[in-house]
Amino acid sequence: MTEVADQFTEERSGEVTRISHWIDGQRVEGESGRSGPVYNPALGVQTGEVDFASVEEIDRAVRSARRAFESWRTISLSRRTELFFRIRRLVDEHREDIAKILTAEHGKVLSDAKGEVARGLEVIEYCCGIPELLKGDFSEQASTGIDVYSIRQPLGVAAGITPFNFPAMVPMWMWAPAIACGNCFILKPSEKDPSASMYVAELLKEAGLPDGVFNVVHGDKIAVDAILEHRDIAAVSFVGSTPIARYVYETGTASGKRVQALGGAKNHMIVLPDADIDMAADAAVSAGYGSAGERCMAVSLLVAVGHAADDLVGAIQERLPKVKVGDGMDPDSEMGPLVTREHRDKVAAYIDRGRDEGATVVADGRETTPDGGGFWLGVSLLDNVKPEMDVYKDEIFGPVLGITRVDTYDEAVELVNENPYGNGVAIFTRDGGVARRFQFDVKAGMVGVNVPIPVPVAYYSFGGWKNSLFGDLHIYGPEGIQFYTRGKVVTSRWPDPATSKVDLGFPQTR
Ligand code: NAD
Repeated sequence: MTEVADQFTEERSGEVTRISHWIDGQRVEGESGRSGPVYNPALGVQTGEVDFASVEEIDRAVRSARRAFESWRTISLSRRTELFFRIRRLVDEHREDIAKILTAEHGKVLSDAKGEVARGLEVIEYCCGIPELLKGDFSEQASTGIDVYSIRQPLGVAAGITPFNFPAMVPMWMWAPAIACGNCFILKPSEKDPSASMYVAELLKEAGLPDGVFNVVHGDKIAVDAILEHRDIAAVSFVGSTPIARYVYETGTASGKRVQALGGAKNHMIVLPDADIDMAADAAVSAGYGSAGERCMAVSLLVAVGHAADDLVGAIQERLPKVKVGDGMDPDSEMGPLVTREHRDKVAAYIDRGRDEGATVVADGRETTPDGGGFWLGVSLLDNVKPEMDVYKDEIFGPVLGITRVDTYDEAVELVNENPYGNGVAIFTRDGGVARRFQFDVKAGMVGVNVPIPVPVAYYSFGGWKNSLFGDLHIYGPEGIQFYTRGKVVTSRWPDPATSKVDLGFPQTR
């Protein structure tokens, strides 16, 4: 059991724990004099105070990573693989501890937190195959006596800036491929739930990862800007809201970095009249309210086509009273609180906003919140949501699901394609032909056919289109390996003095 885990598994003492940085293989207390509060959202009380890094502290972490890179990049693929198998085993053994930390700081229910760790672990498992993933091509006798081959090499120091809603999984999407490819890594997790990253840092050390290969710095805009401007950071992966993703992409690329910046979402789920309505309603409730709607792949809008609408609203209404909202540590809870009081109030305000704009409030989550001081909001449903309304346009990021009614498949697809976001989308139908046409027509990066949250498995890559991704490469999977490496092509000839001569012409292959 590590120090970080003790804080969450021992009896809660009411103390506020200081959360520091992790630099060069050890905990380093921040000296900037700036910090921020961390809450237990189910209790509504502050449990931590996290140090915010200064420009100098970011530089210290980068220098440590830069030093570590010189030897880390020389470590053989078989040693790296062995280490990744150890990391895999440790994360697997401690998945319960990690999940408890997630529940304590984020609020999601424990079963959901375990699911998050499991999906992150799959990316680590993918990285156990790094020798296969880094294999290049070889062309013998490309020209007479000349062979050509390609290799992929690490970039150096890479950084990751991550959101509050997946405090373990999204960092794993980044650090695992980055480090497996031979880079060193600086993680700047969300300041709202930073402890899981510290716990993982301890596990990586225990697995035998050399000091400086993985560092954690906490903070806000000052830390992010220092990362974006640091000349020794070669690449930045970002996941968060669209305005910040755009800023990170523009600022990072302007200072010469490779950047992949994943932004927000407004995921539509289209339900056609021939769909299995019970299956669609189960999916809508699970994907709309799971993790209190704080998932970038949450379904936030149902597009009901033709006569599907009334049946669908009825089937969802039947299910809503059964959703158990409560402390995520309670095994009976299905939905926890929102991450902060401020976010809870912002999400709750959309219920009145929707009513004022002309939507029908079918369920008001403010009437079904549990008692206590937690950041609670029950499940909410708005019908007759129109594309010009804020509740349609904005990413609400909470348990407020909207329903938009249209007459035809074409109208439904047009809504999705005109939306500025293009992260995930789903269609529910029994018609294979229409589903196939949909996958061809739709402008989004991840498509589900009768699957509401189509997060790609670890051996594909994750990413949206339009304002949901700035940059060219999606995250993890084959594109993740490409992102964290650069290619080199070698053209080689071994001396055969008999064929050597001076030739000032451009090299010919024939
Ligand atoms: P956020 O954009 O507020 O924060 C993300 C990161 O950026 C955090 O580390 C934060 O400290 C930093 N940050 C915040 N404000 C900043 C500023 N002004 N300048 C520089 N850095 C800043 O996002 P969040 O609220 O933590 O997470 C929720 C958002 O993330 C949602 O929009 C959700 O859709 C999105 N998200 C997207 C994906 C995806 O894969 N596309 C996955 C998860 C979450």
